[in-house]
Amino acid sequence: MAALPRFTRRFVTELPGDPSLDPAPRQVAGAAWSPVQPTPVAQPRLLAWSRPLAQELGLADDLFADPATAEVLAGNRLWPGMQPFAANYGGHQFGHWAGQLGDGRAIVLGELQRPDGTLVELQLKGAGPTPYSRRGDGRAVLRSSLREFLCSEAMHWLGVPTTRALSLCTTGDTVVRDMFYDGNPQAEPGAIVCRIAPTFLRFGNYELPSSRGDIALLRTLAEFTLRHFFAELGAPGKPAWAALLREVAERTARLIAHWQAVGFVHGVLNTDNLSILGLTIDYGPYGWLEDFDLGWTPNTTDAGQRRYGYGNQPGIGLWNVERLGIALLPLLDGDEAPVHDALDAYRTSYAAAATQRFAAKLGLQFDDARGDGALLQDGLDWLGAQETDMTLYFRALAGVVTAAAPPAALPDGVRAAFYRAVPEAHERQGVEWLRRWWSRTRQEALPPAALAAAMAAVNPKFVLRNWLAQTAIDAAQQGDPAPLHRLLAVLQQPFAEQPGNDDLAQKRPDWARNRPGCSALSCSS
Ligand code: AMP
Ligand code: MG
Repeated sequence: MAALPRFTRRFVTELPGDPSLDPAPRQVAGAAWSPVQPTPVAQPRLLAWSRPLAQELGLADDLFADPATAEVLAGNRLWPGMQPFAANYGGHQFGHWAGQLGDGRAIVLGELQRPDGTLVELQLKGAGPTPYSRRGDGRAVLRSSLREFLCSEAMHWLGVPTTRALSLCTTGDTVVRDMFYDGNPQAEPGAIVCRIAPTFLRFGNYELPSSRGDIALLRTLAEFTLRHFFAELGAPGKPAWAALLREVAERTARLIAHWQAVGFVHGVLNTDNLSILGLTIDYGPYGWLEDFDLGWTPNTTDAGQRRYGYGNQPGIGLWNVERLGIALLPLLDGDEAPVHDALDAYRTSYAAAATQRFAAKLGLQFDDARGDGALLQDGLDWLGAQETDMTLYFRALAGVVTAAAPPAALPDGVRAAFYRAVPEAHERQGVEWLRRWWSRTRQEALPPAALAAAMAAVNPKFVLRNWLAQTAIDAAQQGDPAPLHRLLAVLQQPFAEQPGNDDLAQKRPDWARNRPGCSALSCSS
């Protein structure tokens, strides 16, 4: 039998817990977590797992062949040393304080010790109710679980900071969801994802005790965070809290700049969905930009306001950091200056990271003195003016940069990114811009072939297009996990050419234009 991992219990031993074992939904005061047990499911089956992640965790291949492992990953049994809990947090949802939220369908099983000695939490999403489930059932459906599993891994391989996903299990139980909120609830297959992160602490974990005036708990939580995740910032005290806030602000800014550069739209950027570590967390109705539309959001619940649309993400990140800053004010003796500093740091970091990333997509080291600010902006304006696939467009530019002369006509690769015929004037402007950009690339130190290679290493060929995820969901719901497995493997090398997999690098086919799951997603999951 394969060796089982070792577990630690920092969170539950160092932070105050809820003395009650009552599983009923309730307000929990004075505690960072509640003891819970996963609710067993009918028939745990391992549908997919991430082998590279398992290796990082020191989990041997043969562990995944053992049916007992699927039972752990679906919540039917525990490995020795696990002590499951649900975390207590609040949050601002869609701009409004929502009070206590908490892990309503997430249960941390324990903190696993990796071969290098570092610790990560294993968390099941969809393993049954907790005191924080409110009116929910604590369960998750296969379609949303598959989306979280695949996207976590896809983001990791793109280099974007994220929580990881170790496994996707089906439960053999059904879960009832009204997918379109139109009064047509349906029974759907249930599933459970096992997520991995050093910690799942969110902005909302700090906001809740602060909102309740429970400064002792806020302080204990902040000290825990500093000690385990930001030790380099020094000992607890006002300078450390200011530095912590600033560091979180900068990480969040850099994270969102990275999302913008790959075309990822989170969909629900509430403060309970922002990680204190600056990781992408809580994959719900997220989506990938197909055409470069600043207003686009995949989340139907937000379709009217578009608060969390693509172009709004940087500003929303800032708004969320401000909420965290306000929550930490009691630790800063009420001094607002460190909060303003952190907000400034966010703005500066975001601007630097976004310009650097978008310049790199064009093969450039950003240099405003050479007019790069205007070049970037004009290029994005052109890209957004007609329905054009962002991923295909940027990927195609590596083939243009190596041309011996500036393009005289629109290159085929760029034309292939259009979703429909474009006016001639738009083509002409495109060629003009490409010539300007091509000439600018000649001022770079690297020769064109090296620029092309550098561009191919930041402009992915394969992203988790919404219609691709839906294709894998349709097959998995019919009992065929092969498309899921294939997609997972392809997304583990998003920058490689992978000939033979070109069908997974296509722009959205017409059938997917208005199909639910492909263009629009509800929060029902
Ligand atoms: P989310 O929008 O997925 O980030 O969830 C917001 C809050 O609702 C969190 O506190 C979740 O734990 C909770 N929640 C979402 N879905 C469910 C569910 N099916 N059962 C219980 N709680 C849920
Ligand atoms: Mg959430």
